[in-house]
Amino acid sequence: MAFDINMIREVYARYPKRIEAARKIIGKPLTLTEKILYAHLTEGDATQACERGKSYVEFQPDRVAMQDATAQMALLQFMQAGKNQVAVPSTVHCDHLIQAEVGAATDLAKANDKNKEVYDFLSSVSDKYGIGFWKPGAGIIHQVVLENYAFPGGMMIGTDSHTPNAGGLGMVAIGVGGADACDVMAGLPWELKFPKLIGVKLTGKMSGWTAAKDVILKVAGILTVKGGTGAIVEYFGEGARSLSATGKGTICNMGAEIGATTSIFGYDEKSAAYLRVTDRADIAELADGIAAHLTGDDAVYTNPENYFDQVIEINLSELEPHVNGPFTPDLAWPISKFAAAVRENGWPAKLEVGLIGSCTNSSYEDISRAASLAQQAVDKKLVAKSEYTITPGSEQVRFTVDRDGFLDTFGKMGGVVLANACGPCIGQWARHGADKQEKNSIITSFNRNFAKRADGNPNTHAFVASPEIVTALAIAGDLTFNPLTDLLTNAEGQQVKLEEPTGLELPPLGFAVKDAGFQAPAEDGSQVSISVSPTSDRLQLLESFKAWEGTDLTGLKLLIKAKGKCTTDHISMAGPWLRYRGHLDNISNNMLIGAVNEFNDKTNSVKNQLSGSYGEVPATQRDYKAKGIGSIVVGDENYGEGSSREHAAMEPRFLGVRAILVKSFARIHETNLKKQGMLGLTFNNPADYDLIQEDDTIDILDLTSFAAGKQLRVVFNHADGSSDAIFVNHTYNEGQIEWFKAGSALNLIKTEL
Ligand code: SF4
Repeated sequence: MAFDINMIREVYARYPKRIEAARKIIGKPLTLTEKILYAHLTEGDATQACERGKSYVEFQPDRVAMQDATAQMALLQFMQAGKNQVAVPSTVHCDHLIQAEVGAATDLAKANDKNKEVYDFLSSVSDKYGIGFWKPGAGIIHQVVLENYAFPGGMMIGTDSHTPNAGGLGMVAIGVGGADACDVMAGLPWELKFPKLIGVKLTGKMSGWTAAKDVILKVAGILTVKGGTGAIVEYFGEGARSLSATGKGTICNMGAEIGATTSIFGYDEKSAAYLRVTDRADIAELADGIAAHLTGDDAVYTNPENYFDQVIEINLSELEPHVNGPFTPDLAWPISKFAAAVRENGWPAKLEVGLIGSCTNSSYEDISRAASLAQQAVDKKLVAKSEYTITPGSEQVRFTVDRDGFLDTFGKMGGVVLANACGPCIGQWARHGADKQEKNSIITSFNRNFAKRADGNPNTHAFVASPEIVTALAIAGDLTFNPLTDLLTNAEGQQVKLEEPTGLELPPLGFAVKDAGFQAPAEDGSQVSISVSPTSDRLQLLESFKAWEGTDLTGLKLLIKAKGKCTTDHISMAGPWLRYRGHLDNISNNMLIGAVNEFNDKTNSVKNQLSGSYGEVPATQRDYKAKGIGSIVVGDENYGEGSSREHAAMEPRFLGVRAILVKSFARIHETNLKKQGMLGLTFNNPADYDLIQEDDTIDILDLTSFAAGKQLRVVFNHADGSSDAIFVNHTYNEGQIEWFKAGSALNLIKTEL
């Protein structure tokens, strides 16, 4: 599980030259974010100024991390690239598929049984291609990365939206889809729109009940769930330097809830201390050597409004503990106002369950502070009124807090320790009685609280707070309890008060672990075989998509003319379909089932032009495929917005759709289509959308002279014998046209090898 110190040395060696060049190009002092981004641009893109929010540029990330649910398709694709080894250090983490029900040991054993074929597959692919594999029970991806792989000034992509957690150690860490991870592992650069920059200046110092979590709860209230979109949030100031590295990780982690590309803190003494206690003193030493490059320039932090697109200031000395929710993480309530909000809104005041931990809040500091309250409850003869669970973020944290007695303390208070996994945070929670859909309240130290996320019950009011507040409220069993001011009645009828929580940032005896749950890859993976059962319904090896036939595409049938919003969720739904993420054929049965058909205003009901009857979209397309007939999907504005999941591009490609013609694309989906060898086209005149009729047969012409910047012609042949010919636009560059010709980007990589 050793990190690659030589790789870090190489990254740092690039810094002085790259930053000097960036200063000249930009012509003014640099933020930390700009330093890291410019240090990771590909050679070609590092020579010009990148316009924030506008320029699409290519980066060379240092690492890739994948969680088990998304790793399946990422690795199935990587296997298509024909490489012997991954091009950058990469890891897989088995955390999302473990269901919380009884407690750690039982739940883990059950998951190992239920998900065996998926785990075996991920383990053998990792072994073969040089990927570190963290077994089920080893911990949650972001906590394990923070403890082992994150490093100041690095750049990482991860197939999970809370990848930004590593920003707590000064890394630009960004959540992506599996196709992007596959490309970077195959040695391709990674494209991103150069982000805007939001600066958050932290002044003062926290004390008492306030925790790092309250910073992001407050920021979420200010920026809302959309306010960080397309931006990187950079924290700085004396307040930032006073926070522990893991506290910073919490803030960056939950930055995903404001839509931010990622969040980041600069390198400081707290980062160095965390690196040392997690056995990485050599990284701290290297970072000390280029410390000036691992933080923003002084001039930037003195006059931040001149350098950031938006600046927010928060005084930590005045920051109150917050509780956010229900149903959205940006509904922020200072604790002094929360009880009134509960009463006024009629939210259930009785607290059913308090859950602490997750990748967001399971550091030694979090656990020790929460345990100090649990100890008070025991000492003051308070019996916790709510159920209370603890999800450790990693086996290392679990082992250490167990050794130091904290788990015992929770046990005395009635707490249940769950597996080191996502569990209730991702809906993997077999909560008894949730199916009755009763109105109830829970509070967690997780990050997301959308309806149904934790237990599938739309009437569960989920609130988010620090582990300290969660613990105090679980003891009280009452959402209207304010631990800063209110008293509780103990088992002997006495009025008692909880004192402020206390804890330790880092374990005085250091971290310890017996079996961290890591499997190193084989030195030589060439002999490792990957087993996927041909009868599996969860996994399926991919076959290469066919190369372009070298002619115009004629006689295509209109599959669906989608009306209005068509996000990647409409194209490839989540929910129960997640089970098939590693099986392209099976998951293709959800293709476009959420899209509304312009001709009948229905979802999943389109006319089969061969039979004349209406049927489900996937079944209709399978009929065309079986008869060797290609098809086309037509869509509206911003087609493919939302999650970056590559299944939304792979499914139509797999089922024989040849082109997607829309008024406009969401950029990531457009790129995903290109990578899969599809034609992604846009109307030159958006009103041409209205020309398309339900029984149209469509020709795409001029493909033999397909070139960057040159329009293609499309002819709609209507059922009455008339036709309309239009010009359509595309954004393929010469390299992407080669992807189309080869059948996919991966096919091209394979041919080049
Ligand atoms: S604990 Fe929750 S937020 Fe963290 S990786 Fe798992 S599901 Fe995502």
